[in-house]
Amino acid sequence: MGEVSEARGNPARSVAFEGVSKRFGGVAAVENVSLDVRPGQFVTLLGPSGCGKSTTLNMIAGLELPTEGRISIGDVDVTDLPPADRDIAMVFQSYALYPHLSVFENIAFPLRARRRRAPDEIVRRKVRDVAEVLGLAGLLDRLPRQISGGQRQRVALGRAMVRTPTVYLLDEPLSNLDQQLRVQMRSELKDLHLRLGATMIYVTHDQGEAMTLSDTIAVMSGGRIEQLGAPRALYERPANLFVARFLGEPGMNVFEGTLDAGGFAAAGIALAPPPSLAARSGMVCAGIRPEDLVPAPASTAAIRGRARTVEFLGARALLRLDVAGQVVTAFVPLDAAIAPGDEVGLAPTAPQRVRWFDAASGAAID
Ligand code: ATP
Repeated sequence: MGEVSEARGNPARSVAFEGVSKRFGGVAAVENVSLDVRPGQFVTLLGPSGCGKSTTLNMIAGLELPTEGRISIGDVDVTDLPPADRDIAMVFQSYALYPHLSVFENIAFPLRARRRRAPDEIVRRKVRDVAEVLGLAGLLDRLPRQISGGQRQRVALGRAMVRTPTVYLLDEPLSNLDQQLRVQMRSELKDLHLRLGATMIYVTHDQGEAMTLSDTIAVMSGGRIEQLGAPRALYERPANLFVARFLGEPGMNVFEGTLDAGGFAAAGIALAPPPSLAARSGMVCAGIRPEDLVPAPASTAAIRGRARTVEFLGARALLRLDVAGQVVTAFVPLDAAIAPGDEVGLAPTAPQRVRWFDAASGAAID
């Protein structure tokens, strides 16, 4: 990809949500969301299907109007502004290129729209700049069917960039691509974000995508933001069980058990809780990530079970262990030589790698 010049465009803007809700009849799609996106940030709305990600994005675009609350872009309250007056560009999963138009004309399309019709010379310069940045300069005369899926997705990005928006809104833009291409486009997009310095708000249900791309992730469920923070902070210190289980591949192992003066105990597991929980008793959950468990002698290990499957992953293996009927996952070294059916012991790598949650509310308590 080439140099960024004209393609950089307008200065990045902030985006702010203040107590925004959206109801469709009886369905609360988004509930009381407040969010501050700084200029130039890459923020991802992450969550399972139906959690309200697209509705949130559509409200920034102006495609949906909030039932309550205010939305600003930069210093401007855009809550009631039509989409065309918001200086944003949107890229969707279905990139919907015009099949009969060349790559050049597809990218140029927004500049030819009646409202903002630009002189030919400026159109040519802008399209060439964008094509240069996206590595499409040699493909401008081709039709969409004559280029690859990844190149088509880049054309869709180019069509957004050519408008030099102050905010990019991206709704699952990579999910139509095959796995390998998705990973490649993911790093291209990250690179593009760094080079453009643009504000980007990205929607995905893919936690891997969210973790690699984002400065900040908003994990959503049921129309609410469960937790907002940097990928690493969310991964290491999930605020609740939903976030703990949603992030990670596989997600965090969660054990529900009782805490008393003797420690934490559940079927097949016994752990010493941290001093901060000394005064607490009753039902709690202990959470341990698969990479924070290591094999230990079965007779004395904190966690004991029977190996179900061992998946070879190249550098290490993914062990699935049956612990009193619960499946527990752990990344183990290849030389651990564990086979299905073996009695296996596991221990946390360090006490501070265990996270603690209230069993009733799911909220983190350590
Ligand atoms: P997905 O990943 O499946 O696209 P999402 O997280 O983007 O999901 P939304 O599309 O924002 O979720 O939908 C949130 C909720 O609002 C869902 O329950 C959905 O069925 C509902 N919803 C969305 N749009 C409408 C609409 N136009 N009319 C009625 N209900 C809607």
